[in-house]
Amino acid sequence: MRRHRNVKIVATLGPASSDYQTIKALHEAGADVFRLNMSHGSHAEIEQRHKYIRMVEKELNSPIAILADLQGPKLRVGEFANGSEELENGASFRLDLSDVPGDATRVQLPHPEIFAALKSGAHLLVNDGKIKLQVTKCGPDFADCMVINGGTISNRKGVNVPDVILPLAALSEKDKQDLEFVCALGVDWLALSFVQRPEDLLEARELAAGRAAVLSKIEKPSAVERFDDILNVSDGIMVARGDLGVELPVQNVPPIQKRLVRKCRAAAKPVIVATQMLESMIESPMPTRAEVSDVATAIYEGADAIMLSAESAAGQFPIQAVQTMNNVAVEVESDQTYREILDASRKANRQSIADGIVAAAREIAETTNIKTICCYTQSGTTALLTARERPCVPIIAMTSEMRTARRLALTWGTNCVLSNSKTRFKEAVVSAVRAALAEGYVTQDDQIVITAGVPFNIPGTTNILRVAPCNERMIYAMDPE
Ligand code: ATP
Ligand code: MG
Ligand code: MG
Repeated sequence: MRRHRNVKIVATLGPASSDYQTIKALHEAGADVFRLNMSHGSHAEIEQRHKYIRMVEKELNSPIAILADLQGPKLRVGEFANGSEELENGASFRLDLSDVPGDATRVQLPHPEIFAALKSGAHLLVNDGKIKLQVTKCGPDFADCMVINGGTISNRKGVNVPDVILPLAALSEKDKQDLEFVCALGVDWLALSFVQRPEDLLEARELAAGRAAVLSKIEKPSAVERFDDILNVSDGIMVARGDLGVELPVQNVPPIQKRLVRKCRAAAKPVIVATQMLESMIESPMPTRAEVSDVATAIYEGADAIMLSAESAAGQFPIQAVQTMNNVAVEVESDQTYREILDASRKANRQSIADGIVAAAREIAETTNIKTICCYTQSGTTALLTARERPCVPIIAMTSEMRTARRLALTWGTNCVLSNSKTRFKEAVVSAVRAALAEGYVTQDDQIVITAGVPFNIPGTTNILRVAPCNERMIYAMDPE
């Protein structure tokens, strides 16, 4: 499905968006990637959503990435008898290990290790910091707290304890089971929560065994400190601003976001800016001006993707939220300043022949009437390198690998077309032109840039750049072989 923007949209699925029609409408409105949050919902629900996404993908013939977000060592409260409760400032509230559904006086916090580490006076932050509790008394299986900042607390909301270092493994037993479950279902990306060190990725990578690409959520101060090493062993990054803004002073988040987005682009790895982008649209069909500005900022920064969490998972206006992101993206990306910022922040990378070819493709696209860059890619690397250039024309990634097409749905400016593997370059040129025409990127009077590696089907061999007319008769006349 042709998009008229470069930035990609990730939509989290949840109770507000789990039927086939809504998933299809979300994709049509602009969602390129669907996020399945393993912290919420049963395996049966996850499987159903997965099935519907693949049905939409098939029906619309449009590769879609599915991102499974593993809970990781995130602390969460249990469930409430009424689903949610209001906590008043100054009230007392107990956290304990009992799995009896919670009420206005208590709820389960099913993590014995946290009670062992808590001390009187420590602060607990619930729901991305919206609710603040202070421990007044604690024991091995409970913590009595005073409500400092009240609000609505509901089932399975996250809890942060920024003052206390908790001894938690990177992957819990639940995460391992979830990982195997989603890899067997067939997801394209795994997101790891609360990554702190590069070693935290090793086990997940081993268990995934290449079945899914692995993305690190940056939401701990230690992950920010060790970001370069973490990026090195990750296939992508999520700037998870919800927890990050709780674990660090909230004003630290925008500069970190800017820095991380730039580093990811330099590494040619996709980066998602996430959390509260259109938060008010959970309840309102109209975003605040500040939210629109936040979405626009991430796009101006050159992020690969922007994300909806509760807005699409549990909000009242999931489709409108995707439309809003799409509309903001189309507007920002047609602004001259957008182009200037992307060009000014480009770093010259000239380490390989492929780097040189993608840079040349981008320059040719700037200096002539070329309407698109078509790159043949098997593993996706050439498409990632082309996207890093942030060219001024759309990228069409031609691949014979469905899993590559799906993974690239997260990458800036990249539109994937499945094409049989090629044996001859002429055939590749004709297929690229046909794809560009069919998707409406060009007319017969335009030209396109094509990059490929010959011989075909050997990864890492990009070595050809061709400018071709979009008229098949002219291609044959020029180049009869
Ligand atoms: P994370 O830290 O991984 O982002 P989260 O709890 O913030 O976890 P989000 O996916 O960001 O979860 O969604 C925000 C909120 O939307 C959740 O706290 C929850 O209330 C609701 N939600 C999201 N997905 C689901 C779901 N599948 N079932 C129920 N509620 C959901
Ligand atoms: Mg989080
Ligand atoms: Mg969240």
